[in-house]
Amino acid sequence: MTDRHGASEPADPPSSGVYQSRRGTRLGPDTLKPDNSATPLWECGCGECSHWVDPLAVATVTQYAADECQSPRLMTIERAKEAYVRYQSASHQHAERTSAYERHLAKYASIMEADRRLQRAYSGLSTAMLTRRQSPLDEHGEWIKPVSLHSRLADTFASIRKSLNYHLGRKHGLEWEYLAVTAMTDSAATPHQHILLWVEDAENELHRNMLQPAVNNHVASVATAEHEHHGQGAVTLQHSPDRVDHVPAAYSAIRDQTRTVEQGEFGPNVPANTTVAQYVASQLPHLYLGHVLGESHGEQEHLETHLEGGAVAWASPYRTVCSSSGVALS
Ligand SMILES: [Zn+2]
Repeated sequence: MTDRHGASEPADPPSSGVYQSRRGTRLGPDTLKPDNSATPLWECGCGECSHWVDPLAVATVTQYAADECQSPRLMTIERAKEAYVRYQSASHQHAERTSAYERHLAKYASIMEADRRLQRAYSGLSTAMLTRRQSPLDEHGEWIKPVSLHSRLADTFASIRKSLNYHLGRKHGLEWEYLAVTAMTDSAATPHQHILLWVEDAENELHRNMLQPAVNNHVASVATAEHEHHGQGAVTLQHSPDRVDHVPAAYSAIRDQTRTVEQGEFGPNVPANTTVAQYVASQLPHLYLGHVLGESHGEQEHLETHLEGGAVAWASPYRTVCSSSGVALS
């Protein structure tokens, strides 16, 4: 199985021998300790535990290396994906447990709801999407553990937000709300972050110059982020943003949550959600589980890589989604 079909995403390495070692990389550094959130992704690191503590062992009694082992460690990307699919599917089947898939479905719906509400609340909407990328390889060409990549985005987010606050709010007096989603690339499940801004902008004042300092801040503060991967495409900006004209076929379970048509104050047949909000929401990493749970139909490209990305998101102690107070997430 190859990692990629066609071109890799910006900041991921081009197709080369380096991909052969990617799935053997552990999800996170050995210094990380289990925090009870993704117990089944930890395996024995001491070499002396019973094989029954292996998350992929078929056992009648559930024992977790995270609980039993003196020095548990996160699994490799390849094995973690198997454990992620197995345990999340079991949670989905279980009436009293909520799977990561169900949690992200609910978040998807609340993002779509916030997007419709802000369109009504603002007199004149502009949107911007800022994408923070980083290379998954270190200076020696070795794969960086994906949870460490996620931590670099999380650790620098407050400073990025401060930059946006200064340039949009304090300097230009614009009202705005944000949503930030950490997504995983198609080519290498590399954590990257999309920050979506809804800006009240009756005079079309929003300009990419107001967002460039945040991009510069990202490149300066994240170890393997480079300007060459943050050209024009790192910021997309729309005054009177495009609205969705169809519901993505891949997400049949989500279809009901996305109203392409608003029957209300806009009148009938007016597309209700912005394409940019739908795009960012559809990157929530656990939504891809819908394809293995039989809830999403149609072909999903790069599904294996996206399931690996789901395992990364599950294992990571950092938040995958966050938003300003005007964007309430369920
Ligand atoms: Zn052990």
